[in-house]
Amino acid sequence: MAGLKLITFADAAGSRVGVLLDGARVLDLGAAMPPARGMIALIEAGSAALATVRALAANPPAAAVLPLSSVALQAPIPQPRRNVFCVGRNYMDHVAEGDRTRGITNSEVPKYPQFFTKAADTVIAPGASVPSHAGVTQWLDYEVELVAVIGTAGRDIPKEKALDHVFGWTIGNDVTGRDLQRRHGQWFKGKSLDRSCPMGPVIVPREDLDASDLAIGLKINGEQRQSSRTSKMIFDVTEIIHQLSAGFTLLPGDVIMTGTPEGVGYAMQPPQTMKTGDVMELEIEGIGTLTNAIGD
Ligand code: MN
Repeated sequence: MAGLKLITFADAAGSRVGVLLDGARVLDLGAAMPPARGMIALIEAGSAALATVRALAANPPAAAVLPLSSVALQAPIPQPRRNVFCVGRNYMDHVAEGDRTRGITNSEVPKYPQFFTKAADTVIAPGASVPSHAGVTQWLDYEVELVAVIGTAGRDIPKEKALDHVFGWTIGNDVTGRDLQRRHGQWFKGKSLDRSCPMGPVIVPREDLDASDLAIGLKINGEQRQSSRTSKMIFDVTEIIHQLSAGFTLLPGDVIMTGTPEGVGYAMQPPQTMKTGDVMELEIEGIGTLTNAIGD
């Protein structure tokens, strides 16, 4: 069974949540189950609301079905309530490629997840352009990442309960100014350029997709740059949630980027940066493809 594909979309009537029914049709939950107040509200409404969505998606009322071409997809959670939580250096081959750029050839496996954040309003929609930020960074790079969307609040979450707190999965692109990331020591500056966090196109509920061993990859202008599996994470999703929630309450709608595999531009020989017009296609098995281009 293909997973439910939850979306946030907008048209002239405003922004609301829906279901991507197939390649060309959208179930408008704003029309089918009012008042649908957005993805975080749907997440907070819990399993009964999700069951209603599933029933509607299985038998969509004609009056609530729209052509995909008539709407604009937004990020599934267009405006997270707080920063996007991220994990750095979470695939060993990516740790090693980064170390090699600094002349380190005997990389050590990180002992703890390296947490950082991107500002909440860096999140942008599938298809939206990422500014080149020319003049601010000379070294704009991409990172495909599995994103865990938190469903229920929790603190001090044990590993064995961690997936109970996950609502679903989406794709994120941790666009990074590498020179800024290095220059400032703390990563926030290089990771929080305006519009540097494309996310989407859908959320697949956790019950519909085992995310522990999915193909994950990224192409630039059709050229495969990253290709790995989520099973290669150093700290898996349960460990990330366990450690991030230690003494820190996770909330419904929080988004956690779980790190990128090898193949980023700055570690290529010679190093590659992105420029205006470059097209980034990020794909995770069972979720879909997230495409964004570099603008001016
Ligand atoms: Mn990253």
